[in-house]
Amino acid sequence: MNQFGFYFDQTRCTGCSACRVACKDWNDIPAGPENWMRITYTEKGKCPDVFVSYLASPCWHCDNPMCAAACPVDAIHKREEDGIVVVDRDRCLGNSACDEKCRKACPYHAPQFGPEPGAKMGKCNLCLDRIQAGKKPICVDACPVRAIDAGPLDSLEKQYGRARTAAGFTYAKRVRPAVVFKPKPTSP
Ligand code: SF4
Ligand code: SF4
Repeated sequence: MNQFGFYFDQTRCTGCSACRVACKDWNDIPAGPENWMRITYTEKGKCPDVFVSYLASPCWHCDNPMCAAACPVDAIHKREEDGIVVVDRDRCLGNSACDEKCRKACPYHAPQFGPEPGAKMGKCNLCLDRIQAGKKPICVDACPVRAIDAGPLDSLEKQYGRARTAAGFTYAKRVRPAVVFKPKPTSP
């Protein structure tokens, strides 16, 4: 399998949310709490020695996706050809019927739901439509500081290295997320 994944340069990200907004727009996600790309924030220290960093958090298309294992109706599967983890919303039972088993199983809480009762699960599919058209995911193109890249994981590792952790992110060995980082140093 030619596993696809993400690269995230934490030294560049300013937390501007352009990737999050572009993702909602491209994927027709209604206004509200459902965000397939989330931005989290880490702050440490005391003024004037303060450390601040951001983390873009989509789905990491794990090698061992616990979300898929947890789904009682096999609505989630990992594609053989590129390792992208996708959800079949027609099969999904909805959050109230199954108590969001996929979101609870995911160490990164990537599965997302709208506010309505019975909302079906949605999450990042690496913009599969764009990948299949030979393009990058919309978050990559939308980022004004080029903090995100995506593509075959072995190519990303060759270009950017193999760092698997960053501030605010823990590499979960049990799922093996498909991501490499340029982490922000916590001290100069
Ligand atoms: S990040 Fe979460 S939702 Fe995405 S494949 Fe991994 S376990 Fe599943
Ligand atoms: S919410 Fe849907 S996709 Fe998630 S575990 Fe339940 S049935 Fe499966």
